[in-house]
Amino acid sequence: MSLPIVAIVGRPNVGKSTIFNRLAGERIAIVEDQPGITRDRIYSKSEWNGREFHLIDTGGLEMGVQDEILDHIKNQAELAIEEADVILFVTDGRAGMTATDEEVAHLLHRSRKPVVVAVNKIDDLKHEDSLYEFYQLGFEYVIGMSSVHGSGTGDVLDVLVSQFPDKVEEDYDDETIRVSLIGRPNVGKSSLVNAILGEERVIVSPEAGTTRDAIDTPFSHEDQSYVLIDTAGIRKRGKVYESIEKYSVIRAMRAIERSDVCLIIIDGERGIAEQDKKIAGYAHEAGRAAIFVVNKWDAVEKDEKTMDQFKRNLRDQFQFMSYAPILFVSAMTKQRLKQILPTVLLAAEQHALRISTSVLNQVVHDALMTNPPPSTKGKRFRVQYATQVSVQPPTIVLFVNDRELAHFSYLRYLENQIRIAFPFTGTPLNIFLRNKR
Ligand code: GDP
Ligand code: GDP
Repeated sequence: MSLPIVAIVGRPNVGKSTIFNRLAGERIAIVEDQPGITRDRIYSKSEWNGREFHLIDTGGLEMGVQDEILDHIKNQAELAIEEADVILFVTDGRAGMTATDEEVAHLLHRSRKPVVVAVNKIDDLKHEDSLYEFYQLGFEYVIGMSSVHGSGTGDVLDVLVSQFPDKVEEDYDDETIRVSLIGRPNVGKSSLVNAILGEERVIVSPEAGTTRDAIDTPFSHEDQSYVLIDTAGIRKRGKVYESIEKYSVIRAMRAIERSDVCLIIIDGERGIAEQDKKIAGYAHEAGRAAIFVVNKWDAVEKDEKTMDQFKRNLRDQFQFMSYAPILFVSAMTKQRLKQILPTVLLAAEQHALRISTSVLNQVVHDALMTNPPPSTKGKRFRVQYATQVSVQPPTIVLFVNDRELAHFSYLRYLENQIRIAFPFTGTPLNIFLRNKR
């Protein structure tokens, strides 16, 4: 099930990014923030009353060069209409309603998406009257707020959540491995989908499923069932899409959430881009298994060192994902394509791997003995007990004397030691600390 997406639209300076920061609030990242992950300031995962959702500030999207600011806003609104489940239309209660607001409203009305109007900058009650003119925009929900003071944000969130689509259950059984191919436009996702499905011994089921954002292709290979979630091939894109690369992140987020294993496709010919890191970062943070697939390897001019160099550079740029295997393939020549499904299967198994408490404790105990934690201000970090509490991704809780004493580098060491005993190939590992007294 993918999370609902809320897109924030509106004129410049109405307070979109201030609202975004406030609604994004505390990131509910499971893993503590790790160095090296590149994030966009315009996407965030958020939560209200137990409902998680994605938030996008379309004001931060670069839409290529446009002379007219109005065109710019219109493109952002169109993107929101296309991609979001609910649109938060922000206006400025101090400036009052403008012609641009009306233009945007006109566009939004043509879509069937629910729209919530936030009249921002209502910092005190004496400005409250300025709210009413915005009812002329013709939307049901018009809510006054002040993103600077935080007033009204709860009301806005309540209404947004009330407009979320109902949860839809996935119709694949637990045995089916859900795989997605994510990556920038033109890295070869569609070509790879076709090449994988065209491989020998891949049996594609006659009935393909279509969801709102992807075409699913169920298939089996060596008695294992899979479903490919293809976000690339769906729908013909309009001109807005061609002018921005960032839309692919939104598609990728949806696909990532529905997957067990994400194939992060990198264009071997063009090399690693900033956008690749962001997309990979989402897969990591979502706790999905991941494999790097460097495509178009046929087109790379190479000698015997090229692959190692590429690998080293990739490891260097994706330090937070050292667990992900790297494959070098070509959708065109079919080189090494046969490695993909066995690697997916391995990653899926490791993603669901459960290790026994006694063995885990032995590993942790040995790690602590070999390299005892340093003491901080005369106090030493101690781990009393370790246990794996869940899978997909494997999640381990360490019961400790004082979690404040734990250093990132020491936890990294413990994770490495655990991975020496159990490689957990292709899967992130969550490690939580809990104080035990
Ligand atoms: P954006 O261009 O729509 O993303 O707008 P910003 O979030 O960058 O805000 C534009 C300006 O409006 C900034 O100077 C903010 O400090 C200010 N601003 C945002 N929200 C409020 C608010 O609730 N009250 C007041 N008085 N100013 C605000
Ligand atoms: P997508 O946007 O990620 O789905 O990428 P496509 O599958 O549409 O491929 C983009 C372009 O790259 C097309 O022109 C493909 O023919 C080309 N391409 C895809 N895979 C390969 C490959 O393995 N080798 C080479 N040389 N070109 C490829």
